[in-house]
Amino acid sequence: MSGIAVHLEEVRARIRGACQRCGRAPESVQLVAVTKGFGADAIREAYGAGQRLFGESYVQEFLPKREQLKDLPDLEWHFIGRLQSNKADQVVGSAALVHSVDRKSLAVELDRRASRHGVTADILLQVRLGEEESKSGVDPSGLQVLARQVLELSRLRVRGLMTLPPPVENPDDARAWFRRLRLLLEECAGLPGWPADSRELSMGMSHDFEAAIAEGATMVRVGAAIFGPRPTA
Ligand SMILES: *Cc1c(COP(=O)(O)O)cnc(C)c1O
Repeated sequence: MSGIAVHLEEVRARIRGACQRCGRAPESVQLVAVTKGFGADAIREAYGAGQRLFGESYVQEFLPKREQLKDLPDLEWHFIGRLQSNKADQVVGSAALVHSVDRKSLAVELDRRASRHGVTADILLQVRLGEEESKSGVDPSGLQVLARQVLELSRLRVRGLMTLPPPVENPDDARAWFRRLRLLLEECAGLPGWPADSRELSMGMSHDFEAAIAEGATMVRVGAAIFGPRPTA
């Protein structure tokens, strides 16, 4: 078995363990393998080990990899990174889910592109819980307004929320942030027009996905624990 296959098996086992500890079904958590910084070969290796869902953070990396991996029929891509509105067209129709919608202008552009392609675009709203200047995401205080705006766009289907919480020393300390996102989702779910089955919580990365699962994550985005340390650009 390759290193990637071994690591994938370890991550899957940790997901099962985390689910077991809090009485959740292992199938209730999707593993998004985050491939930024790694090439098509690494993705092929993970694919060979049964992984089908991959998360890309940069449009300029996503496009060539998508092209190189066209022969793999059931690959599913999620776009998880900061997205400029003028690149919206590159992800609509090819990413099954955009995790990082954090402003009205981007939502409007995605809706327009989806309409032009005759498709619906599934999205998550990215929330910036720590209100850090350097991060993207809508602040909790602006979330309801953004959610209402998105619900008016007929080509977008909001599926839930995503976050990348402020760094903490001990993964357990992240639980309070993850809990906060879960409560924010409950508030959004009360909005008129919010789809009844839109309850996705994309939260948790290599160092804290078990804590996120304990707080209700339905998607964990894991890179380094599968692919190793990212090569520096
Ligand atoms: C890089 C990245 C991840 C994965 O982080 P790891 O620490 O490598 O698991 C998850 N989510 C987002 C948005 C990322 O950019």
